Amino acid sequence: MSVPQRSGPSSRPTLLCVDDEPHVLAGLTDVLRRKFDVTTATSGSEGLHVLVDRGPFMLVMSDFAMPGMNGAQFLAQVRHAAPDTVRLLLTGQATLDDTIAAVNDGNIFRFLKKPCSPPDLIRVLEDGVEQARLVTADQRLIERKLEAMSGHLVRAERLASLGTMAGAVGHELKNILMVFEGTMSLIEEEVSSGVAPSLEGLKSLRQVQEHLTSHARNLLNFGRPARRSDSNTTDLQGAVTDVLDMLRNAGMLRQAQIRLDLPTEALVVPLSRSALEQVLVNLVKNAVDALTELQRPDPLIEVCVRRTPDDVVECSITDNGCGIPDAKLPLLFEPYYTTKPPERGTGLGLFVVRDIIRSAGGDVVAASPRGQGARFTLTIPVARVPAAIAATVARVPSRR
Ligand code: ADP
Repeated sequence: MSVPQRSGPSSRPTLLCVDDEPHVLAGLTDVLRRKFDVTTATSGSEGLHVLVDRGPFMLVMSDFAMPGMNGAQFLAQVRHAAPDTVRLLLTGQATLDDTIAAVNDGNIFRFLKKPCSPPDLIRVLEDGVEQARLVTADQRLIERKLEAMSGHLVRAERLASLGTMAGAVGHELKNILMVFEGTMSLIEEEVSSGVAPSLEGLKSLRQVQEHLTSHARNLLNFGRPARRSDSNTTDLQGAVTDVLDMLRNAGMLRQAQIRLDLPTEALVVPLSRSALEQVLVNLVKNAVDALTELQRPDPLIEVCVRRTPDDVVECSITDNGCGIPDAKLPLLFEPYYTTKPPERGTGLGLFVVRDIIRSAGGDVVAASPRGQGARFTLTIPVARVPAAIAATVARVPSRR
């Protein structure tokens, strides 16, 4: 294989020319190097190597008639290896069949008929540059639109989670009100018969008030969109215990025993408090739903947090609920995938969980050995927190 030639790095559009005749390549380089950053190769297979080693190229132009791989076959492979390149074929004697194959397999931008005058060649290559720029601009536009859509989905899911929480909290508030009404009737009877209200009754009212306060605080904190002033780092154990307390207060953990395995050191992760709570609420709530569906006598949710030797925090949430069939595992993180009725599921929870965790450089995986129970494992790199702040985080107790 001969050494591919390149006319040096520059801001000119990059062009790979492939032709089995070195003197043709030398002539093309002479004509084109003022306007293009030209690299050459003398066969299709060499061209494919150059593409990998020295790409990306904006334009790839190949002669048709070459020994071994012909130009159309070469450009068809370029299309797979580097689909964003604009591909051109120089041909003197291609048959109609060759031409059809080149268009269909190589998705060629232009055919050039040999011999081709330098001004014609340059004009066609400049059209190719324009085409490449249009394709890139389209891709950027699509990427920006997708980014914006993902932001909308995160907000929509936050509202949906808030709705679910509000439903659960509303149910719990009704229970508290029953306690309140019972205690108030007792105190009213006491007062109307000239007896001072009992201390127990007053204590009970105080408890009702504390319960209501904690529900109000939970709802305010959970629904609060992230503010600029929010810290972008959060102590994971604090968030885990607070979220479990919040769900317990809301009566959502009644049917499960909770087992916690948390390290004593603070583990700070690069996520805001509200984002981390959103992740944990979703995973624990899914575990509760899976337990409710199975109705087993010993329902259990285990939350385990540990730091791995390579400075990654691993947090797993395991339940012994209905589990997930193997065939469904790849679908879990797709938006709108749900097996729940519309009033109970949006199918956005896990999609958003993964989005949030990936934004912190981490990932989430699901497992369900033999389809029994489920385990969701989050891996998040430990946040780089200055030593003084880390010491403060370690001393600050969680919110409750
Ligand atoms: P939703 O809870 O609104 O359905 P999610 O994206 O949170 O949306 O979950 C998608 C689906 O993944 C659920 O409908 C359920 O079928 C499955 N799933 C999630 N967590 C568990 C779990 N712990 N056990 C069993 N299935 C689960």
